[in-house]
Amino acid sequence: MKILIKNGLVLDMVGNPEKKDVLIENDRIIRIESKIEDTVDEVIDASNKAVLPGLVNCHNHVAMSLFRGYSDDLELQDWLNKAIWPVEDNLNEEDILNSSKLGCIEMLKSGTTTFCDMYIIMESVAEAIEETGIRAIIGRSVIFDGKEADKRLQEAENLYINYNNKAEGRIKVNIALHAPYSCPPATVKKGITLSKKHNMDIHIHLSETEKENNDIEKEYGVSPTEYLNQLGLFERRCILAHCVHLSDNDLEILKEKDIGISHNPISNLKLASGIADIIKYKKLGLTVGLGTDGSGSTNTLDMFEEMKVASYLQKVLHKKASCINAKEILEMATIEGAKVLGLEKEIGSIEVGKKADIILIDLLKPHLQPV
Ligand SMILES: [Zn+2]
Repeated sequence: MKILIKNGLVLDMVGNPEKKDVLIENDRIIRIESKIEDTVDEVIDASNKAVLPGLVNCHNHVAMSLFRGYSDDLELQDWLNKAIWPVEDNLNEEDILNSSKLGCIEMLKSGTTTFCDMYIIMESVAEAIEETGIRAIIGRSVIFDGKEADKRLQEAENLYINYNNKAEGRIKVNIALHAPYSCPPATVKKGITLSKKHNMDIHIHLSETEKENNDIEKEYGVSPTEYLNQLGLFERRCILAHCVHLSDNDLEILKEKDIGISHNPISNLKLASGIADIIKYKKLGLTVGLGTDGSGSTNTLDMFEEMKVASYLQKVLHKKASCINAKEILEMATIEGAKVLGLEKEIGSIEVGKKADIILIDLLKPHLQPV
């Protein structure tokens, strides 16, 4: 199966935007040239369209699409304890399947072709991924201690065994430890052991709120980053969601490690968590991508909204309009996000040999003119 995308303005995330043709065979990009003539199965006329790599959403709970607009106006701990966790317990496989499909469709329709997800009943999430055609890294969320944690860890391992590399390789499975405040030391250690056993990355929420930092400090006498570091978590490759409140010492620890950060600005604003200083993180050499978080805390899964908010927040935080530009933000939503997920050899840019995860944006729209 060959598809030729003709006459588009290609933003390949490697060079400058240029009018080019892109030839796809099966699921790979095989040629990118100024004019391609070939016998193909389908020609897509991309005149007046921008051709971009599919956007990468580094942190999501896609089945939470069901919670869009449910219990707005609460801070994180109240939102989790009073609103979300009590109803989550009542979700069944059908609920998760339907809400995941809704979320996957929303992402695909708004340009996202890959996401990273942690939640419950992930078999239903996998089914939605398979059916909608999106790409994802998924993990069964692990929380609590003792038998409760063991049950979830077993489900996490089963998910790996049954779903890693499924859906033509579009599904990868990692270990999702929920957060330092919901995973006591024994659970974190078991998660690390499981991660080593199957060579899985670890996805975890980290320093999302000041309250989290204070609670961990009270309980263990250290910051959440130090807590996880002492347990050996960063010996593994990690995807760290949020990282709103990192100290200089935390950053010293993280900059030596194989980690990527998912910056989720709208969720951080909605739950009043704070503003992550991603410019500081990037200057230290940390890899930062963008995520939406689940619809319960962000209301839409639209990465263009995240890009805009992420950019403007840094400008206001640093009181400097030039501190970050559109190109850097678009990199965070594409190639840098792919690096956060460890998928940069496959996706995140339009290059020969990479997966043909490509989106077209119709530029003949009032809000996109002039370009
Ligand atoms: Zn989250």
